[in-house]
Order: sequence, then structure tokens, then C-alpha cells
Amino acid sequence: MAYGFNTLQIHAGAAPDPTTGARNTPIYQTTAYVFRDADHAAALFNLQEVGYIYSRLTNPTVAVLAERIATLEGGQGAVCCSSGHAAQLMALFPLMSPGKNVVASTRLYGGTITQFSQTIKRFGWSATFVDFDDLDAVKAAINDDTRAVFCESIANPGGYITDLDAISAISDAAGIPLIVDNTSATPYLCNPIEHGATLVVHSTTKYLTGNGTVTGGCVVDSGKFDWSASDKFPSLSQPEPAYHGLKFHETFGALAYTFHGIAIGLRDLGMTMNPQAAHYTLMGIETLSLRMERHVQNAEEIAGWLEGHDAVDYVTYAGLKSSPYNGRVERICPKGAGGLFTIALKGGYDACIKFVDNLEIFSHVANLGDTRSLVIHSASTTHRQLSPEQQEAAGAGPNVVRISIGIEDAADLIADLDQALKAASS
Ligand SMILES: *Cc1c(COP(=O)(O)O)cnc(C)c1O
Repeated sequence: MAYGFNTLQIHAGAAPDPTTGARNTPIYQTTAYVFRDADHAAALFNLQEVGYIYSRLTNPTVAVLAERIATLEGGQGAVCCSSGHAAQLMALFPLMSPGKNVVASTRLYGGTITQFSQTIKRFGWSATFVDFDDLDAVKAAINDDTRAVFCESIANPGGYITDLDAISAISDAAGIPLIVDNTSATPYLCNPIEHGATLVVHSTTKYLTGNGTVTGGCVVDSGKFDWSASDKFPSLSQPEPAYHGLKFHETFGALAYTFHGIAIGLRDLGMTMNPQAAHYTLMGIETLSLRMERHVQNAEEIAGWLEGHDAVDYVTYAGLKSSPYNGRVERICPKGAGGLFTIALKGGYDACIKFVDNLEIFSHVANLGDTRSLVIHSASTTHRQLSPEQQEAAGAGPNVVRISIGIEDAADLIADLDQALKAASS
């Protein structure tokens, strides 16, 4: 029988500990695991048998979280990583090689734009940024060297919903995987795999953990992509020299990408999630649906209130009727447009600085998706490394403040915003 989301967010991947009966998933604070005998060790190292060797590769606590997230996303498997940015590199790693490119949306988390436009060049990879509402431009940006298409479902810093169905139709036709960063939406609000995504990445630092305690990331594989259909993905389809010529896709089928992520990605890149972090995220994820419902309810009320405020130029929340993306909510994220949006202040840069400095309940921090309400002035912080054009394209101009609505009482949040807006315009 197929369990519902609320049941799966608590139980998927977990079972009472067989040795002790511990009901909650123990934190397996161990680096290594004793082999039954030398043959067992050899079988594990040859990938002939699945089991625990060393916690850089797999750990029982982390494995529960990976299976939980894979289940909630409707994927075949998942690999947890040390951060969301690590997950992005891990997602691209099996697909890319020097000279290859990823076609990415201009509307991404600021750090992702920096990672893709600067840092990945050191590996000989590149990114081509395009407006994902311009489908012809997306098609035109894909060339023979493109190995992935990358976007966010609900784009950070907010208000933009990607038409995943239209984008996945393009990546499918080109025979390349679509990677969707589902951090802002979470699997409760959006299921990218149902809309054609091949891979889903998360910064588990945000809503999945939900309490602002640990960084983490995850790559979920839909298991649906045929890596052997072309010669574009040799790491998955061709013999792997580091495993005696094993072919991942032929050997592991729908789990090829996940096994590659562990056996090559985590083994050699080492961007592993630790069991403590997995524990905090497992605790958080149990209440994901409850929190997301409140995040959405508060965001709808507060975005509507802000839209009518004298000091506010505009509010970019897709849950508002005024948003050009409101029409996509029903299809892409039917339970709501999330808890993240931006506001532009009529007073520009100076008003934004006064506004963030005067808030009392809201904290000015470089984080989002916490139970606590948070703000950030992106242009002077997270999007500081971007050119003015990139800032505008990402929805993070100097007059813009990003707001991550928490799960406190909406009336208290509104009162706080009101007094800070008054201070900002005085
Ligand atoms: C935070 C964030 C990231 C990066 O995740 P880290 O855990 O901070 O490395 C990537 N994408 C989105 C949408 C994010 O919000």
C-alpha cells in the first residue's frame, strides 16, 4: 500500500533498531564497520555486495535520510552531501568533463550563480545562463557539449516558478538530464520528478531541516534517465577503470547514478554528510508538511498585507494574484507558492538598509527556510559578487529585500514589518 506524505516524512527509510529496539534512528557515530571476513570485505570493495565500509561513503544514519528524501521526491535513490553546494557539484560530476556545459536559469540562488559562472570553470566546465521563460532561448542554448539543464522549481530569492513541464520537454528532446533544485519548494509543495526532472537537488540546510542548525545537501535520482542511449555520459555507460571496468548503468540499472554518486563521487570528492547532521535533518523532516503549511499560510497573509503598504513598491510572491507566475502555482506547486519572496522598497537601497536594521523578530541572516522569520538584503550580501545586470536578472536589485517567512504568529510578524517599514521611510 502506498503511504501518504505525512506518514512517509516520519517513517520512510527508518525501522526500529534491530539490536536495541531504539525507536528513533540512532546516530551511528562511527567511521568504520567490521567486515565479517576477508571475502566479505572484498565483495564490498568490488560493489558485488551492498554494505557499510567507511563513513565517507555510507553511514546508517545518513542512509535513512537519503532514503527518506528519495521517497518523498518519488526518486529511486539519493546521495546526501555536506551542503547544498556540495550536492550541486555531486549532481554535475558524473555528467560533466572538461569542455562540457550546463544550461542554467538566470534565476538561481546567488551562490549557485557564482559557483556556476566562476568556480566550475576550474574543472573546465561552463554554464550558459538563459531566461527559462524564453523556451526558444533555452533550446538555442543547448549544444552538442551540453550535459545538463539546471533550474530551481520556485526560484530563490522568490516569486518565480519555473514551468518544469516545458523545460523537461526541451531537455528530453535533447537527450540530456534536467536537474531541479527543489530547496525553496520542498517535496511537499512540488514534485519535480512528476514534471519530468531527472535529478533533484536540495540544500537540506533550509526547509528540510527547518530549524537552522546544520548544513547539508542531497541529490535524488529519478532512475528514469537512459544513460546508455547516447555516448554523452561515459562515466555511467562506459567501463569504469577505478572499478575493474564495471559499467554502472549496465550493472545497476535505475540505481546507476546513485551508486556512482557514492562509489565514485563521495569516495573521491569526499563531500559527505556526517551522521549528526543527518540526525538533525531527520528530526526536522518529520514535521515538514506541518511547517510548510504554516509557512505558506503566513506568507500568503503577509505578502498580501505588504502589497498594500505605502512604503512598498512591489512584492514578488507567486501566491499573489498580481504575480505573473500565479497561473503556474496550481500546476507546479498546488499546495502553495512557499514561504520565500522579495519586496522592493520605494526608498531604494538606503531604505532597505534601515528596514533590515530595524526589524526585531526577523533576523538579518544569510539563511532561509527556518522556523524563524529571516530577511536579507541580497544586493549587499548573497548577491554582492554579481554584476548589477546579474543582480537584476536574479531578482536581487539594490532596492530589494528577500523575506523568508517563518512559522510564528502572522500578526506579530506584520507588526514587526510595519514598525521597520515606518523607520525605513522616516
Ligand atoms: C541555500 C541554497 C543553496 C546552497 O545550499 P548550502 O546548503 O548553503 O550549500 C542552493 N540552492 C538554494 C535554492 C538554496 O537556497
